[in-house]
Amino acid sequence: MSGEPQDDCLFCKIIAGQIPATVVRETETTFAFRDINPQAPTHVLVIPRAHHVDAAALAAAEPALAADVLREAGEIARAEKLDSYRIVFNTGAGAGQTVFHAHAHVLGGRGLQWPPG
Ligand code: AMP
Ligand code: ZN
Repeated sequence: MSGEPQDDCLFCKIIAGQIPATVVRETETTFAFRDINPQAPTHVLVIPRAHHVDAAALAAAEPALAADVLREAGEIARAEKLDSYRIVFNTGAGAGQTVFHAHAHVLGGRGLQWPPG
């Protein structure tokens, strides 16, 4: 069911502490940790504790929680002293989504090309 922890979800396992992660920030509703394969000097993933398959599903089911994820992305950028950064939600396998638990990539600390590949 949407929102419930999924046994086969990597990020639900990270939230449950079953898989280690370098935690950056935690709130009642969100969890943020460093990406294991960083694409920039700062590369943090912000996820809702509740399981939703992607950002749009999250926003449709729990709009306040989607706002929590975005707010946390901004807090992380501030804490990492990024004046410019990018928030990315890869959506669908064709766009590079590999983990089907909504997550914001917060990328910064280097020049970021536009448009992305
Ligand atoms: P995406 O490809 O947009 O679905 O993003 C998934 C991200 O999760 C990728 O950038 C991976 O490098 C990252 N990732 C996969 N496994 C782990 C892990 N155990 N800890 C931290 N990040 C991970
Ligand atoms: Zn999950």
